[in-house]
Amino acid sequence: MKRTAIVLAAGQGKRMQSKVQKQFLELEGHPLLYYSLKVFQESSVIDEIILVTSEDCLEYCETEIKEKYQFSKIHAVIPGGKERYDSVYEGLKACPNCDFVFIHDGARPFITEEILNHAYTCVLENQACVVGMPAKDTIKIADEDEMIAHTPNRNHVWVIQTPQVFSYSLVKRAYDKMYTCGLENVTDDAMVVEAMEQQKIKLVQGSYENIKITTPEDLKIAKVFCQNC
Ligand code: C5P
Repeated sequence: MKRTAIVLAAGQGKRMQSKVQKQFLELEGHPLLYYSLKVFQESSVIDEIILVTSEDCLEYCETEIKEKYQFSKIHAVIPGGKERYDSVYEGLKACPNCDFVFIHDGARPFITEEILNHAYTCVLENQACVVGMPAKDTIKIADEDEMIAHTPNRNHVWVIQTPQVFSYSLVKRAYDKMYTCGLENVTDDAMVVEAMEQQKIKLVQGSYENIKITTPEDLKIAKVFCQNC
């Protein structure tokens, strides 16, 4: 069984209002991206890593990340695409011989070996699973006028994180179909599999610390969480 992590770091991070892309911002002396790569590097369930970044950061990732930190599991550093799903597709095309893929946002530094182990056990049983946590807040669905259209039962609402873990053949087929048939507003990988394949996707509990660094206040929270890592 070959298990590949596709780590996404090709976003521009406009919501961070910083010149440096958010995945390369410094957190306690290391680029943000270092933290999740370290967990994948040291994990017994991961065999290789495909790092997806923007064209102008390929060189930086090779020397300042892969070589500097001796991340020997990084098999390739490849250019991503315009949208997150384009970057995922580039990653999928770069690991044709794997059995399972762990698709992870490089902007989520606080994954743990325990989360990876749970997700792997789960994907072996279910072929598809995504990490997330039950919502703490009540969620409202809004209409176009920002009026409340619907309130889902909070007991059934999860906030989705990464990694999202799939059998390779399943997720690759789903992405191939999406590029043929089209799909709108794609913000995660589960959506692609949900829409294109008759496949149930299992939810696995991650952690409330497994946040995505998106806006400047997330970085302040990350500094606090980083004291434990
Ligand atoms: O933009 P968003 O916060 O959803 O990005 C989630 C992750 O996907 C980030 O780690 C970002 O670098 C990555 N991404 C990418 N290629 C894009 C857009 C986002 O690899 N075109």
